[in-house]
Amino acid sequence: MGKLPIRARVATTIGGAAGRMSRLAGRGDGSVIGGVVGLRVAPDLLSQLAAGRQIILVTGTNGKTTTTRLVTAAIGSLGQEVATNAFGANMESGLVSALSSAHEAPYAVLEVDERHLPAMVKQTSPRAIVLLNLSRDQMDRAAEIWLIARRWREAFGANPQCRVVANADDPLIAWAAGSAGDVTWVAAGQRWHEDSWCCPDCGSHLRRDELGWRCGECSLSRPSARWVLDGDNVVDAAGTVRELRLALPGRANRSNAVMALAVASLFGADVDQALPELRKVVSVAGRYTSVQRRGRTLRLLLAKNPAGWLEAFDVIGTSGGSGGSAPVLLAVNAQGPDGRDTSWLWDVDYRVLAGRHVLVAGERSTDLAVRLEADEIPFDLVDDIDAAVDAVPAGPVDIIANYTAFQQIRTTVGRSA
Ligand SMILES: [Zn+2]
Repeated sequence: MGKLPIRARVATTIGGAAGRMSRLAGRGDGSVIGGVVGLRVAPDLLSQLAAGRQIILVTGTNGKTTTTRLVTAAIGSLGQEVATNAFGANMESGLVSALSSAHEAPYAVLEVDERHLPAMVKQTSPRAIVLLNLSRDQMDRAAEIWLIARRWREAFGANPQCRVVANADDPLIAWAAGSAGDVTWVAAGQRWHEDSWCCPDCGSHLRRDELGWRCGECSLSRPSARWVLDGDNVVDAAGTVRELRLALPGRANRSNAVMALAVASLFGADVDQALPELRKVVSVAGRYTSVQRRGRTLRLLLAKNPAGWLEAFDVIGTSGGSGGSAPVLLAVNAQGPDGRDTSWLWDVDYRVLAGRHVLVAGERSTDLAVRLEADEIPFDLVDDIDAAVDAVPAGPVDIIANYTAFQQIRTTVGRSA
């Protein structure tokens, strides 16, 4: 990237120094502060850093960080360096940091916050965009995700050269992607239907059957997919079936992997070379990690919203060493990044936890306790992660936590693990 204008070069140098200072001061990985400082010196830094590279943006409500990691691994099978914001810093400053820390990388796989996608499309001129799903986040109302979908639709319509890889099973995603010039549809599945009962185009009731979904009134229906997730298998665009056999657990991650393979193949990656790279991914920013603590094996899962909890229940119920019977700790906070309103807890069905030893912690443990009582799930209230560990026998423990609760637990049990 020797072609960068002098102001941009100065900005990345200063930003890099700020990031290193931040790391030295123990304030996280420095990936945001460096970008913030760089952008103050050169406000158009992101478009300058993106120029001349093959940029892939990844967005959606759930699975962004994991899919970004998987796409990075799949693109990496092409044998060239790939820049990425691996730690989920998904606003403009995080993208700047990712690109400036890998000056020479010809590829960049960047997680983007769903609200910022149109602006980031404008600034980075991506070659491809991966659209995973759209559902209520803890802070959103349904109207807001419809607004996000409309803005995406406008952005794709204005950038017909950009290729989109989209989940055909999510009606809102399918509607938003419908304006793009070139869409690769993936049958990636959708477990959470609560935010997509209505047609995004005309507002009528959507019908669902084994073939997918379609509007009862207008012509909107599930697009036919070129890539399909079928159980543990991926069916590629040529119809070849391969077993995924990922290290990452759960159906949501199998969907993410198929999306990753679909986008990598747009860039010429060979599935037989990309798939082994996906299997090497064992944890993503501390998620899915197994940590030893006083003779217990803790498995950490992050779930930030109703759809995310459903995915986490799938992981703990169907996979891993416990066979779906290990004690489960649920931890919920309501600090800024979590959203202060915990009413979304009522959107989750906890009855799948019946028969397991359930423990409840976090600043909003009483909100969760009330919710579990309504579902007639017995539970024990505990003060923190160590109290939970002491309350269960040696062996596996599954932990599902929302954002700041997850970070607190990681700090306690050690980031190195
Ligand atoms: Zn309709």
